[in-house]
Amino acid sequence: MRQIFKGGQAWSPGKAPFSGILVEDGQIIALGQSALNSSADETIDLGQSFLIPAFGDGHAHPIFAGREAAGPKVNGLQSIKEIQVAVSEFANENKDIPWIIGGAYEAAIIEGGDFDAHWLDEVVSQRPVVLHAVDHHTIWVNSKALELSGITAATKDPAGGSISRRQDGSPKGTLREPEAFALVLNNSPKNTIESDVKAIKYACQQYLKSGVTFANDSWLEAGMAEAYLAAVKSGDLKIDMNISHLANPDSWRGDIAKIESLVKEFEPYKSQVNARSVKFLADGALSSGTAALLEPYLDQPEFSGLKIWSDVELMAAVKEFDSRGFQIHIHAIGDGAIRQALDAFEAMQRVNPKWDRRPVLVHAQLIHPQDLPRFSELGVIANFQPLWMYLDPMNKELILPRIGEVRNNQQYQLRTLVDSGARIAFGSDWPVTSEVPLEGLNVPVTRSKGGPAWSPNEAISIEESLQFYTAGVAYQNFRENDLGKLEVGFRADFVVLNKDPLKNSDAEILSVYKAGKKVR
Ligand SMILES: [Zn+2]
Repeated sequence: MRQIFKGGQAWSPGKAPFSGILVEDGQIIALGQSALNSSADETIDLGQSFLIPAFGDGHAHPIFAGREAAGPKVNGLQSIKEIQVAVSEFANENKDIPWIIGGAYEAAIIEGGDFDAHWLDEVVSQRPVVLHAVDHHTIWVNSKALELSGITAATKDPAGGSISRRQDGSPKGTLREPEAFALVLNNSPKNTIESDVKAIKYACQQYLKSGVTFANDSWLEAGMAEAYLAAVKSGDLKIDMNISHLANPDSWRGDIAKIESLVKEFEPYKSQVNARSVKFLADGALSSGTAALLEPYLDQPEFSGLKIWSDVELMAAVKEFDSRGFQIHIHAIGDGAIRQALDAFEAMQRVNPKWDRRPVLVHAQLIHPQDLPRFSELGVIANFQPLWMYLDPMNKELILPRIGEVRNNQQYQLRTLVDSGARIAFGSDWPVTSEVPLEGLNVPVTRSKGGPAWSPNEAISIEESLQFYTAGVAYQNFRENDLGKLEVGFRADFVVLNKDPLKNSDAEILSVYKAGKKVR
C-alpha cells in the first residue's frame, strides 16, 4: 500500500520546510518533489495545513492517569461546590462501584490545602470517596474512607507521611505522601490486570488524540508491567512505550530476578515496548518541602529535605542495573538530589564497561551552577516538563519563601543546559500535568502562561521546543532511527495542524497519522 500525502507544509527537526511525503506500508520512503512525482494507491491532499512529526512523551504515568480517569473527574474545578457536584453525579451514575476514587483537585483553592472529610460526606456518606490532588502528593477522603481504614485520633503519622488533624487530634480528611495514603488505599479494591489494561486503553486514546504516538511509563509498581504485557498481546496497546520498573531502596536486590524475568517476557514485542529501564526516586518535591537541597530550607534552617536513597545504596543499585543493560531514569528535583544522581551516573560510567546507556535525569528542577556542565560531560539526558516552566502560584507562594529568590530563579535552566551541549527531552508527567503537547510547547519559549516572563534568559526557541518533544524523546527511547522526525526510513507518524505552530501558539490538531493510518 503506497500513499502520497500532498499539500501542507511540513516541518521536521534540522530540515528546511518541504511538501510531499510518500509512504509505503506505514514507512516514509520519499520526501518532497520525488514523493509528489511517484505513483501511489492513495493520494491524500492536506491542503493548506501544517505537518510536524508525531510527539513522544518522555516522562509520564499513563496507567495512573487511566486509573484516575475511571473515577470522578474534578480537574480545574475552582470551588468545593463544583467538586461536590462532580462527585455526586459520578456516584449517582456508578451505583455499583464500591470505592469512588478520582482526581485531581486543585489544592490551592483552600488556603493551607487542608480539605475536610465532611465536605465530601455532604454528597457521599455511605461509600468511601478518595480524591487525588493535582500534585499527587496529597489525597482528600470522606469519613467513610477514614472509618473503613480505621484511622482515628489514635493513629500515628506513618514515617514519611502525614495525616492532617482537627483540634482534638481526629483526622480531618487530608493525607500527605504515599506512606500516608497507603493507610487508606490498601483497603480499596486492588487494581487488576484487567482494570489496568482498561487504564492503558484510555491512555492510548488520549495520547493519539493529542498527537503522541510513543511514550514512557516511568513508574511501574507490582502488576503494572503485567498489564502492559497483556495489552501488547491483545493489541490494546496502540502506541509504542518505554517502561521503567520502580527500584525500591529496601528491596531492589531481591527484585532484580523478577524484573529480569518480566523483561524476558517482553522480548517478542521489543519493537513496540522497551522494558529495559529502571526508575529511581532520589527525592520529593520543592512544593512540599521534601526536595533534597545542598543548603537548608529558609523556613527550616536545620532541614535540607530528604534523600530517599543513601549515596552508597543509590550508587550500588545504579551500577548493578547499568551493568545488566538497563537504562537508568532518576527523578531528582533539589540541587542535592541532582548532585547525588549525577555522582551515581559518574561512578557507574567509571566502573562499568562503556555502552550506549542514555541515562535520564527527570525534572532537573534546581541545578547547582557547578553541576550544569556535568549533564553534557556525562551524556545525561535532562528531561523537563515544559508546562512547569513559568512562575505559577506554587513557585511564587509555596517555593519562593522556602528557598529564596536566588534558588527560586535557578529553576529550569534550560537555555544554559542546551548551550552546554546537553541532550534534552520533554515529558508531560501526566496525570500531574496535561498530556497534550500543544498545551506545553510555548511555555519554555515565553517562560510564561500569560503573565510576565520568568528568568527569560533561560528561554528557548519554538523549534527547539518542538524538537525536544519529538526527536529528543525518540533519542531517549532509543528510537532516533524511526521516530521523532520526518525522514526517509522513518515511520509515517505525523500531526496535521490548522496553522503553522512555529508562528501560532493557538495552532490546533486537524488529524493524526500513525504508520500512515489516520488515528484521529
Ligand atoms: Zn513523574
